[in-house]
Amino acid sequence: MSRRALILTELGLTPLWVRRRAATVGKQTDAVQTAVARDLPPLPAAQLLAGDDPGAQVAAMNWQELKSAVAACTSCILHKQRRQAVFGVGDEHAEWLFVGEGPGAEEDARGEPFVGQAGKLLDNMLAAIELKRGANVYIANVVKCRPPGNRTPEPAEANACEPYLARQITLIKPRLIIALGKVAAQNLLGTEATIASLRGRAHAYRGTPLIVTYHPAYLLRNLTDKAKAWEDLCFAVRTMKALKRGSSTPN
Ligand code: URA
Ligand code: SF4
Repeated sequence: MSRRALILTELGLTPLWVRRRAATVGKQTDAVQTAVARDLPPLPAAQLLAGDDPGAQVAAMNWQELKSAVAACTSCILHKQRRQAVFGVGDEHAEWLFVGEGPGAEEDARGEPFVGQAGKLLDNMLAAIELKRGANVYIANVVKCRPPGNRTPEPAEANACEPYLARQITLIKPRLIIALGKVAAQNLLGTEATIASLRGRAHAYRGTPLIVTYHPAYLLRNLTDKAKAWEDLCFAVRTMKALKRGSSTPN
């Protein structure tokens, strides 16, 4: 077992969650390999890897291709009422990745995640642990387009958008993911468990450690839970330190 795998096991991060889509991609690749073995005419790299599966195509994209694909995406009905898709912002090699739910009105207008009231609180939460938007953290959402009236994204919408976030995560290779709120936690972990039950321990998204905390918009309405969010951030800092030290348990 690799050193990293040992650490993840020690942190209780196994078994790792693998989304069903990932399994399909594997099968697709086998089929493509069979086709290649049969000496079929060469295809461009992305197509060769992807076949007809849009998820697999996204999984082969570089940053520029991914940004263009999201900007032009019509894979779910959220594209109909958006002003623009909101891709994500920050250091493309950040060690920290924060994932929210989806753009609100201000984000839809400005094309950047977390720029409204909840975003101000998020910026303060980041500052408290010495992180800064655009510098040493990446911020993204489960869905890239604003759900009308800020409703919760439907599972079909989150699923349609999932390949983009999955690809962002693969390209960023963060050491630690922070899921902000129920929608991010449930989609990334493939669970229906509550935030309360998921807080306080490390989970994993496809092998990357993941910690769950409250969404800043929720904290604006439930001030008493801010103390718990602070505990979560402190736990996240300890976990990051442990991951960097290569030791198994935060302290
Ligand atoms: N809430 C979110 O989940 N994401 C944003 O980008 C803004 C508000
Ligand atoms: Fe495409 Fe995601 Fe926007 Fe839906 S929310 S249209 S899947 S970018």
